[in-house]
Amino acid sequence: MAATVSSALAARVRAGSGENACKCYQCKKCSVGCPVAGFADLHPAQIMRCVQIGDLDAALQSKFIWLCTGCETCTTRCPQGIDIAAVMDELRMIAREDGRVRAEAPFAAILELNYRSFRRWGRLYEVELLALDKLKRPKTFMDDVPMGLKMFMKGKINPLPTIGDRGQMKRMAAAADRIVAEKRAQAKADAATPAGGAGGAP
Ligand code: SF4
Ligand code: SF4
Repeated sequence: MAATVSSALAARVRAGSGENACKCYQCKKCSVGCPVAGFADLHPAQIMRCVQIGDLDAALQSKFIWLCTGCETCTTRCPQGIDIAAVMDELRMIAREDGRVRAEAPFAAILELNYRSFRRWGRLYEVELLALDKLKRPKTFMDDVPMGLKMFMKGKINPLPTIGDRGQMKRMAAAADRIVAEKRAQAKADAATPAGGAGGAP
C-alpha cells in the first residue's frame, strides 16, 4: 500500500464514474458476494480501499480488476449504495488511459478485441476473437483447446463469421466513442476546477 494517502484517485474515479469510494466503510459485503474474489490477489473491498487512499499502483497491478465480470452482485449488496462494478469499470478505463494495462492480465485484451470484432463483423466472431487473444497470450494457447474442440464437435462454434448489420454497429460504436470522449473531457475539466474532488461526504 502507498505510504502517502491521497484523494486524487478517488476524485478521478468519481469524476469518471460518478461513484464516491469514500463512502465505503469496509464492511466487505461486496467481497463476500463476489463470485471471483477467491481467484485473485485482491478482493473488491481491498480495491475500494486502494481507491480511497490513492494507491493507484496497487489497484492497477491487481489481477482483480481484469477478472471482474461486471455481474453487479457487489453493487446490489453494498449498504452504502456504491456502484462498485462501475468503479471497477473506471479503473480499467484509467489503466487504458494511462497505458498501464498489465500485459499478462487475464482477459485484459479480450474487451478490446470484442469491441473490434463487433465493429468489423456487426456481430461477435468468436473464433477470430479467440485466435487473436491466443496470439497476444501465446502461453495460454492450450488452455481452451479441449473445451473448444468439444464445442466445435457439438456444433456450438461456427468457424465462419455471421455478418450482422455492420453499418449500424459502426454508427453505434462511433456514438459510444463520442459519449466516452465527452465524458472523459468533462471529468478532466471538473477535476481541474477547485470544486472538483472526491471529498468524504456522500
Ligand atoms: S459493500 Fe460497500 S461499504 Fe461494504 S466494503 Fe464493499 S464497497 Fe465498502
Ligand atoms: S461486478 Fe465484479 S467485483 Fe462486483 S461482484 Fe461481480 S465480479 Fe465481483
